[in-house]
Amino acid sequence: MHNLPTNEAPVSALSELAHRIVTFPIHCLNHPALGQMPEWQGADLCIRSFQPNSDPVDDYGASSRAPLLTRHSHALTWLLLELRDALSDQVDFLNKYAFYAGLESAARRHLETNQSEPADPRPLLLAVFAQALHWREVAGVNCSCRECDTPNEDSASAGADGDLDSNLGRN
Ligand SMILES: [Zn+2]
Repeated sequence: MHNLPTNEAPVSALSELAHRIVTFPIHCLNHPALGQMPEWQGADLCIRSFQPNSDPVDDYGASSRAPLLTRHSHALTWLLLELRDALSDQVDFLNKYAFYAGLESAARRHLETNQSEPADPRPLLLAVFAQALHWREVAGVNCSCRECDTPNEDSASAGADGDLDSNLGRN
């Protein structure tokens, strides 16, 4: 085993976060901001609870895209808050839309192939966490993988040329 460099705080924060996802009872996962935001709303991403047999959700919040529906909206919101904190040095006002769109894409792809949703939120959380690690690896580089390049169906055409920055209005 290699020791992590002591000056790489984000790495140790992410390691601790991965440990918490895997080992903590889900009801023990808490974040101070969950009181104000029990379901994620930000960076054009809206997460809402999926309620079987209920009317379709039409609350898009401030997001232009359809809400991401999951029975694990609370756990997923927790993870996004933790990732926001852990990667606060690397996610800024310019790249946050691509960052959260990639996380959303990873979550949607996982949910597409895991219906109906299992009671355990960990597989979903780990799928999103893996994309956060990937984003950290390719940050600053135009990654053309499916998650990074085509955040979702609605904006697939925006990233069709493989240029992430085309979504961010770069001149
Ligand atoms: Zn990528």
